[in-house]
Amino acid sequence: MRVYNFSAGPATVPEEVLQIAAAEMIDWHGCGMSVMEMSHRGREFTEIATRAQADLRQLLGISSDFAVLFMQGGAIAQNALVPLNLLGQRKSADYVDTGAWSSRSIKEARRYCEVNIIASGQADHYTRIPRQSEWHPSAAAAYLHICTNETIGGLEYHWTPETRADIPLVADMSSDFMSRPLEMRRYGLIYAGAQKNAGIAGLTIVIVRRDLLGRSHPLCPSAFDYRIVAENESMFNTPPTYSIYLAGLVFQWILRHATPDKNALEAIEARNIEKARRLYAALDASAFYETRVAREDRSRMNVPFFLAEPRLDELFLAEARERGLAQLKGHKSLGGMRASIYNAMPIAGVDALTDYLRDFERRHG
Ligand SMILES: *Cc1c(COP(=O)(O)O)cnc(C)c1O
Repeated sequence: MRVYNFSAGPATVPEEVLQIAAAEMIDWHGCGMSVMEMSHRGREFTEIATRAQADLRQLLGISSDFAVLFMQGGAIAQNALVPLNLLGQRKSADYVDTGAWSSRSIKEARRYCEVNIIASGQADHYTRIPRQSEWHPSAAAAYLHICTNETIGGLEYHWTPETRADIPLVADMSSDFMSRPLEMRRYGLIYAGAQKNAGIAGLTIVIVRRDLLGRSHPLCPSAFDYRIVAENESMFNTPPTYSIYLAGLVFQWILRHATPDKNALEAIEARNIEKARRLYAALDASAFYETRVAREDRSRMNVPFFLAEPRLDELFLAEARERGLAQLKGHKSLGGMRASIYNAMPIAGVDALTDYLRDFERRHG
């Protein structure tokens, strides 16, 4: 029996996608081999990668001004590759610090440049995102970096920052990528690991404005130079072929959500809003459960919560597991619980969790 998997990542994959992958595992479309065994330059895989990129572009409405790169190394590698590729002649970059993942980005960027932390939620224990009016951007930064969804703290931007025309906005979108429509023209570069909302580990998606290519540091490895990766259609080295295939299946699954009045990502977003509404409503309805993030900054993807009685944590997790509700343990830095409810989590999974929240409180509250 499949459980409802609330893991933050690698995370649940739509069951329909797994079924297609299983059916195509041994013999992809009658070609007599699996996707894993294909040459990345062959006709079959070229078709898979081309379709994946075309579907991604359609879903996000990405114009030809942007290159789509299928890379490796995860968002953590991008923390170094962004400064290595974008600093150019400039010596500093601006960062907004909203929690664990933006702090990780800042720490890595400091190896390459001067980092200006232009706003920070640290003094508020990362329970709110500083408004743009509280930011102090610098004039000489090469770019401005944000993390649109803090996977550990459970904060998400529900607005897009304004930046100066010569200072591109760069975003780590690992955990809310493809969960809602995106105004790509407001960004210079976004990056996301696939294992949260776009499939499985091994693939990192980078979308970068083409005029930002060609600024890399001379010591940037060729395989991680955005310009070289773009010029070679992500085939400078062997790309993570199976992860690209899986992401392509996820994009097709998302496309199937389009309705007569909503495009696919609008429909996915509406469902994500409803899932988050139901879960936060159940948590807010009771003093037995606590959430800490300011309401307007609450993540729709990752919902950290705490039991008023932490001595019940282990029992809560054990009984949840028995009911088929898996991986609800919070990140070790925060404790408590965390429910990640990415695109692939069905509404029925959220309802099973809210039923359990009420039932557990009734028996132990
Ligand atoms: C998961 C995650 C990362 C780390 O991704 P890796 O694939 O492990 O490099 C970075 N940033 C955010 C926001 C994440 O959710």
